Amino acid sequence: MVVEERERGGRNPTGELTVFPVRCFTCGKVIGHYWEKYRDMIREDSPEKVLDSLGIERYCCRRMFLTHKEIMEEIID
Ligand SMILES: [Zn+2]
Repeated sequence: MVVEERERGGRNPTGELTVFPVRCFTCGKVIGHYWEKYRDMIREDSPEKVLDSLGIERYCCRRMFLTHKEIMEEIID
């Protein structure tokens, strides 16, 4: 999954910038609209606390946020 993200260069097949998956790959929960909030909130709080307060309780969904953050940091570096 992580390798796919990298190979696509952060863009979907139509060339638009892929910001964040709309749904959790595992359970299908719609999580895309939480990403911007999450990204802002983790500047002041731990990712675990932010996910709790956003109501992201399943580990499959939490993983989507945590791994996406790591990918972003790698690109920035
Ligand atoms: Zn999930």
